[in-house]
Amino acid sequence: MGFESPHKRVIVLALDGVGRFFTEVPTPTIDAFFASGASSLTAKAVVPTDSAQNWGSVLHGVLPEKHGLKNGDVEAGIPYDENNPYPSVYKMFADRNFKMASFVAWESINTGIIELSVKADKYAPLTHENCFLRWWLRFKHHYLKDSVYDYTVVSRLVDYIRNPENKDLKLLFVHLTDVDEHGHGHGYGSQPYLNQIKILDSQVATILKAIDEAGWRDDSLVIMTTDHGGIGKGHGGSSDQEVNVFLAVRGAGIEPNSKIESEVMNMDCAALILKALGKEIPVWFDAKLPAEFSSL
Ligand SMILES: [Zn+2]
Ligand SMILES: [Zn+2]
Repeated sequence: MGFESPHKRVIVLALDGVGRFFTEVPTPTIDAFFASGASSLTAKAVVPTDSAQNWGSVLHGVLPEKHGLKNGDVEAGIPYDENNPYPSVYKMFADRNFKMASFVAWESINTGIIELSVKADKYAPLTHENCFLRWWLRFKHHYLKDSVYDYTVVSRLVDYIRNPENKDLKLLFVHLTDVDEHGHGHGYGSQPYLNQIKILDSQVATILKAIDEAGWRDDSLVIMTTDHGGIGKGHGGSSDQEVNVFLAVRGAGIEPNSKIESEVMNMDCAALILKALGKEIPVWFDAKLPAEFSSL
């Protein structure tokens, strides 16, 4: 590494199932985040537009045919093969002794997409909360069609960010899922779905405030993206509503209010993470570093 990166840490705000629907409702926090950095509203998801395939590509930097991740497998608890030639960015940092964390509303990211061998502070409501809260989360999800997984993720995360023991954190992946759940329950673009996007906006505000209060604002690269949108009550296909996503990046050296003019994909996140933390982007990566960030 020939230079000292200004980025002490990278934080990925992984907002499940948002597509580009946030442009249809007031989202002051997301709008302000876009204005504070460089963004693209023409980014694309990988196809099939499913969560395991897309978060897999975001975290491993390769297309689904390489990482091989599928929703059914990760939800069945199958761990990512430690011998797979396409490791996650977490595993790629294993030699650095970095402090890393992954706070996810969908536990399969921690159990099936990130390798089990990865040493990181991993949290998910359904694997870390007590049985009463887990029962309530499942009840809200299955019977009331009003998922509230994100609330516990955000509150545990805020405590984590505030804890001075975690000040040396290098990589943080935050995944929120209730918008996607409302898409499945009520329809993508429906009123309950759009209302949940407004709630998501306030939860993102809570996270960004915690980042500011911890003094992490100036030395963090913060990336915001989504895995896919949706059509009807599902996703997985290649319609515009499913494939159209966004990518927004804030941090030192990034011009506020600027546009990412290159064609980007959500999985390009993986290249941004490596670049910002001073690791060479491997030749086998499908994720590309957008030209706008070549001097990160
Ligand atoms: Zn998803
Ligand atoms: Zn979904």
